[in-house]
Amino acid sequence: MNPFLKHWFRRYAAIARFCQDCSVLPDYMEISNDTPDFFPDEIKNLEHISALKMTSSSDEHLMQCRICHTYYWYRTHSPGGSEDAMHTTTYESITKMGLLGVYMELQEAIQASADYLKQYDNESTKILYDFFLQEHESLQIEATRHFSYIEAHNDLLIWDAFACLNAQASAQEEEFYNRQLRQLEAQALKILIHFLSKHRHPELFRDQLRLLSQHPNAVIASSIIDYTRSL
Ligand SMILES: [Zn+2]
Repeated sequence: MNPFLKHWFRRYAAIARFCQDCSVLPDYMEISNDTPDFFPDEIKNLEHISALKMTSSSDEHLMQCRICHTYYWYRTHSPGGSEDAMHTTTYESITKMGLLGVYMELQEAIQASADYLKQYDNESTKILYDFFLQEHESLQIEATRHFSYIEAHNDLLIWDAFACLNAQASAQEEEFYNRQLRQLEAQALKILIHFLSKHRHPELFRDQLRLLSQHPNAVIASSIIDYTRSL
């Protein structure tokens, strides 16, 4: 998951605060096998949504509360590699996710799965191709269900996108993630305009649009000014 996405879910997190199933789960929590900490039992209430990425040292997937529909991101990783499971520190974390983050991650997962599939698209690897094709198709079916949910709750995604674009990264983050931040902003801008164009009352977001039209990134500012003129 992109490290920045975790900051931009506040409106959504407010819903989870009153949920009977997941309100005790923190916005972010990390445990490791060399500490006595455990996740709260309520984590078992969450529905597990298919693995998005699988590598030898990390496993990440989305989870969703069955009652309030808040999304959570689960990740486990072993920075030292996993050859020696008994002596390797394994970290597990959960992060509450906003709809913008979920939308981006699902898009990315579908793309990654399609790219992966392409590698096996020849006669000699037909069996593997068929196997991964099936995986790809079931990911698409599952993603479609969540895209429909997001479409139906596009207000939350739009607020998330505004928060994402208006958030100022710290100077340290800027330095570390400069390129990643710019890519994320460009993606968030594209998604924001897509959802605003489909929203029945985009004028509701006039104040947010005005704020964003003064964004230090000239590309963002001018795209927003163009969009506002088109209203
Ligand atoms: Zn909940």
